Amino acid sequence: MKKLVLASNNAGKLREFQQMLAPLGIEVLTQAGLGISEAEEPHSTFIENALAKARHVSEHSGLPALADDSGICVAALNGAPGVYSARYAGDRSDRHNNEKLLSDMQGVSDRRAHYYCVLVLMRNADDPQPVIAEGEWHGEIAHEERGGGGFGYDPLFWLPGLGKTSAELTPEEKHAISHRGKAMRALMQRLSAE
Ligand code: IMP
Repeated sequence: MKKLVLASNNAGKLREFQQMLAPLGIEVLTQAGLGISEAEEPHSTFIENALAKARHVSEHSGLPALADDSGICVAALNGAPGVYSARYAGDRSDRHNNEKLLSDMQGVSDRRAHYYCVLVLMRNADDPQPVIAEGEWHGEIAHEERGGGGFGYDPLFWLPGLGKTSAELTPEEKHAISHRGKAMRALMQRLSAE
């Protein structure tokens, strides 16, 4: 595969994929760069949304498409925000999402949370056997924001073993242990076995 389209308009995700895919010699195009509209994400599972996004972009570009559906799941909130992570506060603003999460977690002592990422690579829009890979990353919800790296909920994602939030990691440190990094490595392994 020489070329693929990333089925996302999330700037943070795009930056991470471009960093991870750069060494592989694959030309990475973006959905927005090709003028392709955003797909609907109507489903209640990550995998269904990822399939919908990859199919939509492959259909409109005629190229292989890689979609990521991901989010943060908080144990004390019964897995919320989950698939609604991007629009938790209603307006797709990272700042508002983080404020809402902190306020939902006020007075809550069980701070356990994990990120989840599922990747779907569709070689074409009718691909009956897309390549699917997933990854999880476990941590806790901090009591206040820390760090300026990453995106989304990273300033609140506390890593007790490291004594840092994920927004305090370098991009390389994050890719080595993150849900997206794990999913990406699993996807590559599957592709190389083809
Ligand atoms: P999606 O584009 O619908 O899959 O939404 C993913 C959302 O999950 C993002 O907008 C973030 O709010 C959150 N998220 C996923 N991965 C990360 C990450 O690596 N760091 C911080 N937030 C993330």
